[in-house]
Amino acid sequence: MNLCVAEEVGVRIGDATILDGVSVSIQPGEWVSIVGPNGAGKTTLLSALAGLRRTSGTISIDGKDLRRLTPREKARLLAYVPQQPEIPLGMTVNSYVLLGRTPHLSLLGMEGSGDIEIVEQVLEQLNLSDLGHRVLESLSGGELQRCHLARAISQSTPIVLLDEPTTALDLGHQQQALDLIRRLREERHVTVVMTMHDLTLASQYSDRIILMADGRVAAEGDPAEVLDPERLSQLYAAHVKVLKLDGHLVVVPSLKE
Ligand code: ADP
Ligand code: MG
Repeated sequence: MNLCVAEEVGVRIGDATILDGVSVSIQPGEWVSIVGPNGAGKTTLLSALAGLRRTSGTISIDGKDLRRLTPREKARLLAYVPQQPEIPLGMTVNSYVLLGRTPHLSLLGMEGSGDIEIVEQVLEQLNLSDLGHRVLESLSGGELQRCHLARAISQSTPIVLLDEPTTALDLGHQQQALDLIRRLREERHVTVVMTMHDLTLASQYSDRIILMADGRVAAEGDPAEVLDPERLSQLYAAHVKVLKLDGHLVVVPSLKE
């Protein structure tokens, strides 16, 4: 069964149509990247899948209508990391990552030893144990990105939705973050849906790519099928070549001939 199904999802803001008849299905354990030019509707689609948007059409997670779920039920099914999460000032890494456990706490809101143990494991997996007592605003961009990921992972949900998790990172940290997501996904069997700008990285890491343009799905499928140079050149209004290097696709801008 599909884990997440969106059918004919539409979002309108005032007179503008931001998403128009978008249908996507995500299988359990899949890693799907949503790509497309600026303003294509990637963030809107991801936040709709997270249940944060009023939409037309239907979205179901694990067979349940997203609209009928309480915030707590939603937070047990999916973790969402926006592109620029708010950083609570003065909060330590430990406390921030522990916030991920909120949907699992009892009504009294007290975390138990199980919650602390999960957070400790996640901090260790993400190489954050030594930073546990640092306040968030003292961290570098890469460290902060790992904290957001840690908070999402400690939420222990079957689905993790990430909005451009690597855009603010340099090449090495981009690779590190994606390798980490790959490892966590294998170890914890989470389903990953993320938006990405870098088409080369998207093709290297994801099972499937959904290419958006103008609020619609322009193409979806295997990275090699979707990343067609002519299609990309047209949609991005650019000159694009798709090369194959060591068995991987590489999408590069090319000079006008
Ligand atoms: P992407 O993530 O692909 O860059 P977004 O989903 O953020 O695109 O935005 C899609 C389109 O919707 C853009 O044209 C953007 O300007 C528009 N949009 C998003 N939020 C609003 C809003 N609150 N009011 C008006 N337009 C919006
Ligand atoms: Mg966006």
